[in-house]
Amino acid sequence: MSERLVMERVMENLIRLRLPGVRQTLSDVLDAAQSSSWSHLTFLDRLLQEETQRKEQRRIEAALHSFGLPFVKTIDDFDFSFQPGLDRRMVMNLFDLTFMERNMNVLFLGPPGVGKTHLSTSLAVKACQCGKTIHFTTMADLIHRLGTDRSAGWSNVNRRPYQWANLVIVDEVGYTPIDREECNLFYRFVAMRYERASTIITSNKAFDEWAELFNDTIIVTAILDRLLHHSVIVNIKGDSFRLRGLKEKEEGKNMET
Ligand code: ADP
Ligand code: MG
Repeated sequence: MSERLVMERVMENLIRLRLPGVRQTLSDVLDAAQSSSWSHLTFLDRLLQEETQRKEQRRIEAALHSFGLPFVKTIDDFDFSFQPGLDRRMVMNLFDLTFMERNMNVLFLGPPGVGKTHLSTSLAVKACQCGKTIHFTTMADLIHRLGTDRSAGWSNVNRRPYQWANLVIVDEVGYTPIDREECNLFYRFVAMRYERASTIITSNKAFDEWAELFNDTIIVTAILDRLLHHSVIVNIKGDSFRLRGLKEKEEGKNMET
């Protein structure tokens, strides 16, 4: 059989076997194998590497899509020089994900625009790359979901990602006040995950403001007790990244006058 026909058959089989990565890189890898005199094993290894990496990338993209993240950003996209008050080492340490092995929680606190959602999302991307399941929700959506599940007698709870995901991110705790009933629901959620799996919380409110926000000092104390028992608290005190252009403009204006 001529080389050309063999190549055609190989290409057809690669389609049948669903190996698009191999199909795309075959001719380059063949050239490299020839010019560098690779062993058969090295040749096969390079080909399979291409395919594996491609499939892994796809898996991560599909998974990230299904987790409900507001955007996909990584820690490489985070400009630490913009937040000089932030403990970079403490943040970077989180990315070894030992906090998840220990079922610890992470709390990102600070005013709007300082990167709380960005950092949470970056941790989600990292956890996803390590094969973990993630559930991203806002506080408002979580409370709504918990309310519906309670009305159904909690019969669906084991199927809910807020229950089973390896990592749950509750974004924007404190943006809207919640009543006593809702506070109870949130307590139930926190207690459900306590010492069993990690949760990341972002909030624009300091803990001493939570009591007022949740309308119930006793339950808030119980919530914070469990949330903070095994936790890393990251306080971000700097400027809003969203308003950075505005600030520069303001400064420019001040200099002109
Ligand atoms: P927060 O959740 O604290 O309100 P976000 O994480 O949503 O703030 O950040 C607002 C926007 O600014 C996002 O697009 C985010 O990616 C970006 N951002 C915030 N801080 C930084 C930073 N230090 N470096 C790069 N981008 C940042
Ligand atoms: Mg946010």
